[in-house]
Amino acid sequence: MDQVTGAAERFGGAAQYIAGGLRDGTGGETFRVVDPATGRAVWEYATAGPADVDAAVAAAKAALPGWAGATPAERSDALHRLAGLLAERADDLAGTESLQCGKPIRLSSGFDVPGTVDNTAFFAGAARHLEGRAAGEYSPDHTSYVRREPLGVIGSVAPWNYPLQMAAWKILPAVAAGNTIVLKPAELTPLTTLLLAEAATDAGLPAGVVNIVTGTGTVAGEHLVAHPDVAMTSFTGSTAVGRRIASLAAGTTKRLHLELGGKAPFVVFDDADVEAAAHGAVAAALINSGQDCTAATRAYVQRPLYDAFVTAVADLMTTVVPGDVFDPATDLGPLISAAHRDKVAAVVDRARGYATVVTGGAAPGDKLAAGAYYLPTLITGAAQHSEAVQSEIFGPVLVALPFDTDDEGLALANDTPYGLAASAWTRDVYRAGRATRELRAGCVWINDHIPIISEMPHGGVKASGYGKDMSSYSFEEYTQVKHVMYDTTAVARKPWHRTVFGAGRP
Ligand code: NAD
Repeated sequence: MDQVTGAAERFGGAAQYIAGGLRDGTGGETFRVVDPATGRAVWEYATAGPADVDAAVAAAKAALPGWAGATPAERSDALHRLAGLLAERADDLAGTESLQCGKPIRLSSGFDVPGTVDNTAFFAGAARHLEGRAAGEYSPDHTSYVRREPLGVIGSVAPWNYPLQMAAWKILPAVAAGNTIVLKPAELTPLTTLLLAEAATDAGLPAGVVNIVTGTGTVAGEHLVAHPDVAMTSFTGSTAVGRRIASLAAGTTKRLHLELGGKAPFVVFDDADVEAAAHGAVAAALINSGQDCTAATRAYVQRPLYDAFVTAVADLMTTVVPGDVFDPATDLGPLISAAHRDKVAAVVDRARGYATVVTGGAAPGDKLAAGAYYLPTLITGAAQHSEAVQSEIFGPVLVALPFDTDDEGLALANDTPYGLAASAWTRDVYRAGRATRELRAGCVWINDHIPIISEMPHGGVKASGYGKDMSSYSFEEYTQVKHVMYDTTAVARKPWHRTVFGAGRP
């Protein structure tokens, strides 16, 4: 086995970060992290079992009184230091992320890592902004106010597509609000999550505030979700697993936050700038090799622009260069694994029976054959109800369909179970306004598709789940409000007592 990262050398085989230190998992199995660009195993670790999850939850519970009792300024200072450390360690983080995910280094160093640093800085600020109603005499005899309090121990589960960012989106609002956390990263990609936890300790977050359990979903994940000492589960992943998690969490009535799958529409009206739309569609379909829950997957193009759009997209797709992920010239990395690449290829192969594969639809050969690469793929002629249009493929595959009226375009865009993100392309302000109102999604872009920012919420509707990541909305979701009511009269016999003590009673 080739231990090629500094991270792997530092961690040995220990992937459980509990109470401020690394330890071996006791799940009785080992798991290999594989570089999907080459197929080589780069790290092997002992997976977490239920006892490791119990130990992590116990550590988080023990750290809770101290951390919840810290002042907002103290929590903010620690997060500011963490932002600084992550920025200092940016090269290590980006290289490790590229290695374990197969991300082009331009993506991990230009998006994943700076996004995480910015998110950390944002939540350092948010820690000092507790929002709520003004205290006041809402009843003439009482003063009421609201306390905003942490929930307790948070149990989070994250996916493999943006491991560092997903860990940050879970950890930061939780700890900024005074909770402690146990996070389970995807078993395929734990390395940058462990680096993040290590940096949190180095930044001065007390032991036990951030704990990581690394193991499979069915063992470590389910034990964490069902744990009676976990107050909230925050999950990002597929809709199928989200539903399983909701059923497990019901046993303890914990709070749930579900960021699930997507199948984002990309609606191009006939007054749009077709060159901008084609560039936008290719970039938004191929970012992270299409393994992005908000990726553009269904381009609905009004008939007058349809042929020009399809030609431009197909041409642009052939200019996107797959290659060595550490070469800054590489545009496209592999998919997360050969197994996932085969699933994507199978959907495209089935589509050949009912649609046209205009470009792509194959794995590149030669030097890239050992990796899980798949070429940028454009499909046309698929029916709205077909698999390629309805199911989340999670690969570099875009389906283009024509539409005639605005009503039809918006109706088709809304016609899948998902509702995470959508975009509309038009130079007409009224069309844009209508699209923002009628597209059923947690985010609607106008004349762009993909950008996110720390200040704004991210999260879906329909089968894409509920709850928000990033922004002050996410910070609030990791708190509970408590109504406190003070009597202002100091009288023994209060007017409302007449409901129990009748007239004439002493
Ligand atoms: P997945 O659902 O297979 O796995 C996600 C995580 O859940 C992993 O850590 C996995 O180990 C764990 N898990 C699996 N089964 C579990 C169980 N029974 N109990 C508890 N945990 C379990 O998803 P994935 O393949 O890792 O990620 C891709 C999916 O994530 C896509 O559907 C994508 O759209 C979605 N995603 C959504 C968002 C969002 O913000 N909505 C962001 C990124 C990814």
